[in-house]
Amino acid sequence: GARDSSGGASLSESAGPVKLSIVIPAYCEGDGMRILADRLKGVLDRLPWSAEVILVDDHSTDHTTRVMREIGEQDARFFFIRLSRNSGSHLAILAGLEVSRGECAVFMAADLQDPPELIPELLDRWQQGFQTVWAVRAKREGVPRIDRTFARTYRWLLNRLGEISLPPEGADFGLVDAVVVRALLESAGANPNIFAEIAKLGFSQTGLPYAKNARQLGRSRWTLGKKLKLFADTFVVFSYAPIRAMSYIGVTVAVLGFIFAIVVVVKHIVWGHPVEGWASLMVAVLTIGGVQMLMFGVLGEYLWRTLDEARRRPRYFIEESTLLDRARTAAVVPPRPR
Ligand code: UDP
Ligand code: MG
Repeated sequence: GARDSSGGASLSESAGPVKLSIVIPAYCEGDGMRILADRLKGVLDRLPWSAEVILVDDHSTDHTTRVMREIGEQDARFFFIRLSRNSGSHLAILAGLEVSRGECAVFMAADLQDPPELIPELLDRWQQGFQTVWAVRAKREGVPRIDRTFARTYRWLLNRLGEISLPPEGADFGLVDAVVVRALLESAGANPNIFAEIAKLGFSQTGLPYAKNARQLGRSRWTLGKKLKLFADTFVVFSYAPIRAMSYIGVTVAVLGFIFAIVVVVKHIVWGHPVEGWASLMVAVLTIGGVQMLMFGVLGEYLWRTLDEARRRPRYFIEESTLLDRARTAAVVPPRPR
């Protein structure tokens, strides 16, 4: 790319170690990229430290890729990586964090719902000694009630059953110290929910309330299917509750069945009761059959993820990057937890 052949050191490199990395995943966000970059520049120009912005193109099919490349060519603080396939924002952020060099890293969405102007405040909290600073949605504009209810139920379930504590209003914008980044890269598995991972890691965390804006351009690519997969992913990693529930249901059904079997046998022997009807038999067979298949499904969810972990395939591949020197060693085949 232009950066590699230019020969000059980039701004961030010439200014010594990078203090702040900003990682932004984007999937088909071409229309908003330039506005986002301009707002970021406004914020970065006023910071007393060197910063880098890592734009992660999650294999967009629109002009996002071209716009990102152009932004990088015009401003040496902006880097660009493109993943080899659409991997979801969690893996995209992870890919960006993996190549980040900052002493701390901000992650935020590309759709202008998360205001870049909040970054200095996140940095303030970091300087006060917090290693994870969540930007907590105090207010969400333009989110349908049903979505909010879904999201809240999701986090409630996770917090109850998964033994982690995500901010109750949710978080997908925040800052982590480089120590947390390293811990996250070590602990995240093949199908991570990185926000739940960060929450679970510990360290010293705090929240900073902000108003999340409504989406101005483009549309959300978080389909219901993707949300459900993330939900199952998170559960499988953080909770044994579904497996435990299976054991309890199994024991309960077995005990009830055994008692009922005794009743049937005794009735037959002592009172010579005739064989009972087809209806009760069908009810028992179908109910138990259904419960069993559900249990197989739950087991299957754990099983394929275990297989995914056991294979130790790289979580993602980099197709193109202006960070080739770093990408080749770090991000193409990310180190995996042992
Ligand atoms: N995103 C991504 N890959 C995807 C879906 C989304 O990188 O497969 C990015 C998206 O471009 C945005 C961020 O993740 O920067 C949050 O996504 P979105 O705004 O669609 O989610 P929502 O705000 O509805 O939770
Ligand atoms: Mg959004």
